[in-house]
Amino acid sequence: MSVTQEEFYVDVIVIGGGPAGMTAALYASRANLRTVMIEKGIPGGEVNNTADVENYPGYSKISGPELAAKIYEGAMSFGAEHITANVISLEIHNEEKYVQTEGATYIAPVVIMATGSHHRQLGVAGEEKLSGQGVSYCAVCDGFFFRNRHLVVVGGGDSAVEEGVYLTQFADKVTIIHRRDELRAQQILQDRAFNNEKINFIWDSIVEEIEGDFSVKGVQLQNLKTAERSFLPCEGVFIYIGLIPNSELVRNLGVTDEEGWIVTNERMETTIPGLYAVGDVRQTHLRQIATAVGDGSHAGHMAYQYIQTLADK
Ligand code: NAP
Repeated sequence: MSVTQEEFYVDVIVIGGGPAGMTAALYASRANLRTVMIEKGIPGGEVNNTADVENYPGYSKISGPELAAKIYEGAMSFGAEHITANVISLEIHNEEKYVQTEGATYIAPVVIMATGSHHRQLGVAGEEKLSGQGVSYCAVCDGFFFRNRHLVVVGGGDSAVEEGVYLTQFADKVTIIHRRDELRAQQILQDRAFNNEKINFIWDSIVEEIEGDFSVKGVQLQNLKTAERSFLPCEGVFIYIGLIPNSELVRNLGVTDEEGWIVTNERMETTIPGLYAVGDVRQTHLRQIATAVGDGSHAGHMAYQYIQTLADK
């Protein structure tokens, strides 16, 4: 690769500044490794879009942004450098890894991928056109604009049910539309939703189209069991139908599964020496803040051990 930008040699490059990336930066810098954490937005990642976190040890309840700020403060306290930039490419040449942003190239023996995931889209007519005009993927960001309205939430996992409950503080009524007749969400979240009189469910159904010219007017539904179609008027549609890994940077490196999640062992190592993955971008069966920080601590520690082995060569 031709490197024409300013170059910085460090020990560890963490790409992504959510809880996993911040914790990896904490462990690496505390082990005295020169560490940069490159994050394009505000550190905290998806946690910043979470109203209340109730399942992070040490806090019975804390707002997502507040928790993110606390993790950030600790993570940066041992000398890790936080860089605000968008990573364009990652190239690996033997032991050296080149991480290019729009302004610079960072070179290190260790790269920790902590790039997280983003919300899957439905891919139906009206979704893109009305995005930001009633179609949303973030209840915490947009719920406030829907006071006394009827909202639809699509999905049956933790996000759909948790955010559906969250939206009832603004909306008059929240209808959760799920493609099966059984939720995937944790039981405690299900119980909250079933006990909330503002929430009702439409089962076995999918959204075929979101209607409206300049704002959402309703959704066209199809019942998958009866094939019956119906129109449900509403003013907002919140879509929570799962996650897509932000793994484009490593898609050509042979370290992802068929869906794009990065495959690691329990030490967060990929099959490429010195390349680790942590948090939501990793192939795992549980995506929580607590598991993300666990991943980050593993990778930060393994980075130290890996660099020791290079020094011993
Ligand atoms: P998820 O667990 O993958 O659930 C996605 C839901 O959307 C499923 O109910 C799925 O239906 C449905 N779905 C998928 N594709 C669809 C489509 N094309 N049309 C209609 N419905 C579709 O995703 P998530 O709820 O965003 O959660 C992601 C991860 O974050 C999970 O690991 C979750 O546990 C975690 N999380 C945890 C918390 C918490 O602990 N408080 C909160 C939020 C998220 P099926 O059920 O039929 O597959």
